[in-house]
Amino acid sequence: MSRLVQARRLEGVDKNIWVDFVKLAATYSKVNLGQGFPDFPPPDFLMEAFGRAVSGEMHMLHQYTRAFGHPPLVKILAQLFGKLLGRDLDPMTNVMVTVGAYQALFCCFQAFVDEGDEVIIIEPFFDCYEPMVKMAGGTPVYVPLRPKAPKEGKLMSSADWQLDPAELASKFSEKTKAIVLNSPNNPLGKVFSREELELIADLCVKHDTLCISDEVYEWLVYDGKEHVRIASLPGMWDRTVIIGSAGKTFSVTGWKVGWTMGPNRLLQHLRTVHQNSVYHCATAAQEAVAQGFQRELEHYGKPDSYFVRLPKELQKKRDQLVQSLVAVGMKPIVPEGTYFLVADISKFKSEVPDVPNSDEPYDSRFAKWMVKNKGLAAIPLSAFYCGAHKDNYNSFIRFCFAKVRHVVGPSQLGLANPLRFGCAHITRNTGQELGFCMNNERSEWKGEPGWRP
Ligand code: PMP
Ligand code: GLN
Repeated sequence: MSRLVQARRLEGVDKNIWVDFVKLAATYSKVNLGQGFPDFPPPDFLMEAFGRAVSGEMHMLHQYTRAFGHPPLVKILAQLFGKLLGRDLDPMTNVMVTVGAYQALFCCFQAFVDEGDEVIIIEPFFDCYEPMVKMAGGTPVYVPLRPKAPKEGKLMSSADWQLDPAELASKFSEKTKAIVLNSPNNPLGKVFSREELELIADLCVKHDTLCISDEVYEWLVYDGKEHVRIASLPGMWDRTVIIGSAGKTFSVTGWKVGWTMGPNRLLQHLRTVHQNSVYHCATAAQEAVAQGFQRELEHYGKPDSYFVRLPKELQKKRDQLVQSLVAVGMKPIVPEGTYFLVADISKFKSEVPDVPNSDEPYDSRFAKWMVKNKGLAAIPLSAFYCGAHKDNYNSFIRFCFAKVRHVVGPSQLGLANPLRFGCAHITRNTGQELGFCMNNERSEWKGEPGWRP
């Protein structure tokens, strides 16, 4: 066949960091702190709900359900989020269930973005925003979070990465159709403050711009920080689509249940994309998520609520990982939210084998080298920047700390002799050494088989 097979919209969007790094991690990693998913089980009440849903007791749960969301799920979402947003939500018109947050994002860009429209994306950003905007015919316009030096003797925090208000304002024009906001932010873990959100909101109102608010990590905030929903700020409900994910909310990334919430004037267009693409999402998973939310609504704010317990557990893991990375000689940026932590690896530039004159950013070469030679998987920060800016912040890597078996106990990642690569020991709370070795030779995995996800 001599004619061009590929549609033009696929030009330049064929590479995908997850496809590449998941494969590398599967091949080489002994300790996989790369792709973001928990390696601990979801809460019992949720697994039990899923079990009931597929048990055959209610055999219609094996069939199609309502296209825009299984009624029990949209109802409970409207009830809970209505409370959080302080407004009445109509489950049928203000909520739509999607195949994970990915499809929610895809629906937004397909529904709102035309050829010639600009979409503002805050860097570093969850990588799929860029190709999704491009596939819709839009032009991404980037604005960076810029790091400020931390206080003397303190570790940097994700809060030290900030927008420059004048720079942000300069990106808005009559071509701007939307801005994508992701708070808490993947990869930095930044939780945007109310003041930062007000700045964005004022610009959205001034320029009549939509806001696509990716809030998949809304429950994962630490140190008493508050997750502020931009849709609750003046003038914002009417122009915001909120995106959520059961994958992150209940630690079930494989279920691929997500949702959108917003005014009907916006959601009606998401429904058009949805009904003409996937039509609806797995019924049994929706039913189980609905029951999970029902349970959480009943336990809201109580100590045994999963939304209280999970961040508490993860904050401990964050602190343990911070300690161990400091011991290794990396400089962690302490995240205020999410289950990701970005660390500065610039100290190792002189030590780690490098490929001179390579087009590939240094952090990407480092991360590949680290997984191949040391068995430790992480994701290069440059993956979260657009092509033109990949070299601006190329000496950082992102770790995921939602990993029970690799990030437990006080001294799991104590590297005796940092990247000369002395030996690292990962101990469980039993004290058992799992033999994650950062010697220069490949080490043998001494952990229990079957532990690797
Ligand atoms: N947004 C962000 C910021 C993410 O990190 C992810 C990855 N899980 C998604 C959206 C996609 O979520 P889901 O797995 O529910 O499709
Ligand atoms: N959101 C997850 C992460 O940032 C995984 C995304 C994916 O695997 N496509 O690690």
